[in-house]
Amino acid sequence: MELLKERIRKDGKIKEGNVLKVDSFLNHQMDVKLFHEMGLEFKKRFANEEINKILTIEASGIGIACIVAEVFDVPVVFAKKSQTKNIAGDVYTTKVESYTHGRVYDIIVSKEYLGKDDKVLIIDDFLANGKALEGLIDLVQGAGAKVAGAGIVIEKGFQPGGKFIRDRGVHLESLAIVESMDEKTGEIVFK
Ligand code: 5GP
Repeated sequence: MELLKERIRKDGKIKEGNVLKVDSFLNHQMDVKLFHEMGLEFKKRFANEEINKILTIEASGIGIACIVAEVFDVPVVFAKKSQTKNIAGDVYTTKVESYTHGRVYDIIVSKEYLGKDDKVLIIDDFLANGKALEGLIDLVQGAGAKVAGAGIVIEKGFQPGGKFIRDRGVHLESLAIVESMDEKTGEIVFK
């Protein structure tokens, strides 16, 4: 998606640890008009999939997923990161290793909001090693629901998540795939 790539080139900041900061339009301040364009692009790319629910993970996926859900005209659910060790009964749960914080946490979704009739499009901001997406896929499959696809805003193509998820047979669409980025020069190359 050219509009998004231009914005990343203009406003993206490369940090150590292969982290791309896009706080000015995606992860802190949010450009909702751009989100709407992303929603339309996802709608095009998943036109052949039956989708009745959007799933994301808190916190940074929520804003994008809400706008995408409006474009698809379906409900949106976000998986919660749980602090509690004893997770109460009626939830699906799995463990996710955080890319940015390095620790493992539980994510949960209430059984009320995910079930066997759901055909789910998973939305997230970044794809790096694929752990967050893998966790969300596990939640959907654990609920007996179908993964209709996964839509990612920025995939870091030099990290293994994209191949890992595509090899699982998931219809994965990323709006911008970063092939390389150079912390010293600030140069970002897209696929
Ligand atoms: P993964 O689980 O695929 O390794 O990492 C995906 C998650 O880590 C995303 O939900 C995102 O919040 C965070 N993440 C991974 N890489 C980056 C990055 O380069 N920049 C930002 N802002 N978040 C990232």
